Amino acid sequence: MNRITGHHLILEQLNRQVQQDAISHAYLFSGIAGIGKKKMALDFAKTILCQGQDPPCGQCPACKQIDRGIYPDLQVISSETSIKIAQVREMISSLAVKPLSGEKRIIIIDDAATMTVEAQNSLLKSLEEPFSYNLFILLTQTPEVLLPTIRSRCQIYHFKPLKPLEVAAILQKETSFSETEISEVLAPAKGSVEKAMYLLNHADILEERVAILRELYLLLKGDLQKIFTLSERLSSDKSKSQEMLDFLILWFYEVSLCKKGFALPDGEEAGKVHEAFVKILKDEKIEAINRTLFEMMERMKYNINLNLQWEKTFIQIIKIQKG
Ligand SMILES: [Zn+2]
Repeated sequence: MNRITGHHLILEQLNRQVQQDAISHAYLFSGIAGIGKKKMALDFAKTILCQGQDPPCGQCPACKQIDRGIYPDLQVISSETSIKIAQVREMISSLAVKPLSGEKRIIIIDDAATMTVEAQNSLLKSLEEPFSYNLFILLTQTPEVLLPTIRSRCQIYHFKPLKPLEVAAILQKETSFSETEISEVLAPAKGSVEKAMYLLNHADILEERVAILRELYLLLKGDLQKIFTLSERLSSDKSKSQEMLDFLILWFYEVSLCKKGFALPDGEEAGKVHEAFVKILKDEKIEAINRTLFEMMERMKYNINLNLQWEKTFIQIIKIQKG
């Protein structure tokens, strides 16, 4: 059975390094969320640490302990918000000691870009003077946020979004959603299993997106009442607000691609709704609208009155459209 879905080339290259005993001491896996970077890192770790004949055998004590998350020489550092200096220091203090059970200690840092600069600097020292038995795998969606000095010490692998069929295969294997349900989220998930799962578990979001677009279209046509109905609708809670804002930014980006005659990302087909927006928007207006949405995104980082800020955003958008 295939251990990893997609990313065949990367899997092959990493396996070859293990076979040829040519592994590096630091790796950076970059790519959007939910496409298997961490899975690949764990599989790579298992391949290196496995004590069986055909690594990763899945049967030996090392493989089994890794699966249960209790292998002593495999550390996974992560944080919901940001990886603090204390976490990195604690990890570093363990590095000078030889691995307990094997020849290698593997440290996976997930999502490395959330490390504070202080934490990154502290990690850098370990990357500069590596002990032969320590191996780092950094995972990130935004490699550009990492210090260049860290990036330059890593072998970098860029993970592309999965193909719709690959996402479907994973969801069919790991969830109980029907084929039809799964097929409906493949396009908006844009190659991310995480995003697809989110959409499957929030079926109302797709309907809500269509409804929001309908209202926004009417607003752009001059129905000013929509400023208030849209703002109210979007500000019911912050995570929904954030979700919809991300969606709208992507939406206008797609509309601008259609306008210029380019294909949509991931080979998606432009729909009737795209075309409707293309008809009523001029090129430079799409750009200005997206700038306005990005400003809203900046403001969302703070504790703001969502309703008021959305109103401000829509008033600005209508000004752009009329001006
Ligand atoms: Zn094994």
